[in-house]
Amino acid sequence: MSVSFFAGAYGGDASTVPAETRLECKICWYVYDPSAGDEVWQAPPGTAFAQLPEHWSCPQCGASKQDFLLLDD
Ligand SMILES: [Zn+2]
Repeated sequence: MSVSFFAGAYGGDASTVPAETRLECKICWYVYDPSAGDEVWQAPPGTAFAQLPEHWSCPQCGASKQDFLLLDD
């Protein structure tokens, strides 16, 4: 049995996500931008995805961090 991830997924290991990287929710397409932070979860601008709390979830649909995909500029 093999496990495959969506293209661009980071496999749930947020520590491998570069600090500047934006990530997109694969369910509702909400984009988390580290330079903007997250008002809903009171994450200040400059908060990397890896620095968000483990229980952080999508502000729009409630998806977990594992449901976010890396966005390439
Ligand atoms: Zn979402």
